[in-house]
Amino acid sequence: SPAPQRQPSQKPGIPGITRIVAVASGKGGVGKSTTAVNLALGFAAVGMKVGILDADIYGPSIPRLLNLKGKPRTSGGRAMIPLEAYGLKAMSMGFLVNEEVPMIWRGPMVMSALTQMLREVEWGELDILVVDMPPGTGDAQLTMAQNVPLAGAVIVSTPQDLALIDARKGLAMFQKVDVPVLGIVENMSYFIAPDTGHRYDIFGHGGARDEAERLGVPFLGEVPIEMAIRESSDSGHPVVAGEPDGPHAAIYKDIAARTL
Ligand code: ADP
Repeated sequence: SPAPQRQPSQKPGIPGITRIVAVASGKGGVGKSTTAVNLALGFAAVGMKVGILDADIYGPSIPRLLNLKGKPRTSGGRAMIPLEAYGLKAMSMGFLVNEEVPMIWRGPMVMSALTQMLREVEWGELDILVVDMPPGTGDAQLTMAQNVPLAGAVIVSTPQDLALIDARKGLAMFQKVDVPVLGIVENMSYFIAPDTGHRYDIFGHGGARDEAERLGVPFLGEVPIEMAIRESSDSGHPVVAGEPDGPHAAIYKDIAARTL
């Protein structure tokens, strides 16, 4: 049988944006959005101009994570002006629709909404645009990966997720559309007991690093499971913004440095 055709997709870059990096995961709930936001703040911490695009059309989390609400204004043309928080320019479907209304959209409408949030927005000059991808590796995600002019992708995984091959599927998805995988972040990697400072490797240690090596992609770092990360995330003050000199910010800044 003939080899599958690799069609380079029509995906012109976006004027003013130097590079677009996707943050993806094989499944939901692994901390992809939390990582995307803190990674974006990690880039901003070294002086980069950073935007974040919430491509999770069905379950946008950027409004909650950045404590942003309200509709973006439109400029003189018809481009939307992104909202801003903690120095990040942000665009999300959550700004455009009522949170209570479930979105029952078909694929083509999702693509057109994404294209609009990507291209009909006054991003201005950005060194990097971080795209928080929808979870999973189905057709919708593949189409997105194919249609967004991505410089690369970061895969977020928990230790169990890695063991369960979801992360590998994510990798395969980007490889299919010729997007370089910049590396794997292991989230909820270990736990430091706040009272004793003792580290517990709940799911074992070193698995993700080994797996990244096996897969031939960089290992970008481990993020502990931590109350401060959960609370700051869920209250709209991400940990890198709230405690820029704290231990968690240091972890995300390291990951940001390795991603570049
Ligand atoms: P996803 O985007 O993969 O669905 P989220 O970023 O929304 O995941 O995270 C899911 C939940 O887990 C959120 O409540 C978030 O605050 C929490 N969370 C994510 N990463 C961590 C972490 N390292 N430690 C503690 N809680 C975390």
